[in-house]
Amino acid sequence: MTVVIVGGGLAGATVADELRGRGFTDDIVILAAEQHLPYERPPLSKGVLLGDKTTDDAFVHHEAWWREHDIDVRTGTEVQSIDLADRRVVTNAGEHPYEWLVLATGSEPRHLRLADECGKPVHYLRTMEDSLALKDALADGARIAIVGGGWIGLEVAAAARGAGAAVTVHEGAELPLLAVLGPEVAQHFADLHRAHGVDLRLGAPVTGDALSDADFVVVGIGAAPRTALASAAGLEVDDGVLVDELLRTSDDHVLAIGDIANQHHPVLGRRVRVEHWDNAIGQGKTAAATITGSAEPYAKLPYFFTDQYDLGMEYFGSVGPDGYDRVLTRGDFTGPFRAWWIRGDTVVAAMQANDWDASDETRASVGQAPPEA
Ligand SMILES: Cc1cc2nc3c(=O)[nH]c(=O)nc-3n(C[C@H](O)[C@H](O)[C@H](O)COP(=O)(O)OP(=O)(O)OC[C@H]3O[C@@H](n4cnc5c(N)ncnc54)[C@H](O)[C@@H]3O)c2cc1C
Repeated sequence: MTVVIVGGGLAGATVADELRGRGFTDDIVILAAEQHLPYERPPLSKGVLLGDKTTDDAFVHHEAWWREHDIDVRTGTEVQSIDLADRRVVTNAGEHPYEWLVLATGSEPRHLRLADECGKPVHYLRTMEDSLALKDALADGARIAIVGGGWIGLEVAAAARGAGAAVTVHEGAELPLLAVLGPEVAQHFADLHRAHGVDLRLGAPVTGDALSDADFVVVGIGAAPRTALASAAGLEVDDGVLVDELLRTSDDHVLAIGDIANQHHPVLGRRVRVEHWDNAIGQGKTAAATITGSAEPYAKLPYFFTDQYDLGMEYFGSVGPDGYDRVLTRGDFTGPFRAWWIRGDTVVAAMQANDWDASDETRASVGQAPPEA
């Protein structure tokens, strides 16, 4: 009963790992377009740029582990098409029949033509190669323009300041991270970066002229799910590959997980597509459960973390399209900080910063009545 996994990122790697953990003894093949064994991406915008981690630290497992667990990882192998009727995939190097196919093709950075055509070197950040190239470019005194005040843009800004570069961040919204956090907490991130010497230019679309003083440009304006393969095969796709609670697509033998999966979430009661590390791991485990015949709906709340300067934060839950009525905060960003996004009399999302002991309590507060003010 061959399981073929398309994509050697964290989600794909986790399915294989979990299948072996559950005692699955049949063939597992990972078809991975990149030249590397599966690796995690969070260090690429943090420790690797700061120089306190190497890309070697990012691997999910080393070569010997994959061999010992009899998992066939084919790097440099891109799946070009899927034949749902015959249950086989075609790659640049041949064909693979499957009983179960798991799509874990991840996301790719959105491009900004204005930056691509500005005449300066332009960096995007998704792969190990991207991270190493950016690390090489970060140098004391370099002038860097970052387009996009989202997670990647702000993490790069923090690393670049750490390297002594002069950093300008251009963000069209009135605050960085405004759409995710709302003004109450986004303001703290703006203050944090300004306190570290970042020139934040907010509230207006970036222009070519604004980039002209920079030595190079980093674009971090979000990522798009890689769904072309699924669409071409005829699977249902709508902002990601549509999956149910067991991560099954519109084809009985095909699952989709990680950044590309647009899942019906049993707790949130709506569809969500989550582009975060924890989701890649959690959905990888659920996919393995589904394959081994154990129906374990993926019901974990969305979770993400970031590290910027000395700040480490975690966010649990999802505000979603219905928004929130108020935010309760405790502490400030220089020390332990907590925030709760509240709709009606329920916490819909919560975060902690600089207080890892508060993780479990913060996570548990989602879905509950708000704490006392
Ligand atoms: C720089 C960076 C920093 C991040 N930091 C954080 C963080 O701090 N916290 C957090 O929660 N999340 C973070 N994330 C997000 C997190 O890394 C992603 O959500 C996670 O990598 C998703 O895993 P995935 O396996 O779904 O996709 P990916 O990691 O994108 O892996 C997909 C793989 O599939 C391969 N592929 C695509 N098409 C094909 C094909 N046709 N054939 C074969 N292979 C194919 C791709 O080459 C890629 O290697 C970060 C992401 C980046 C880029």
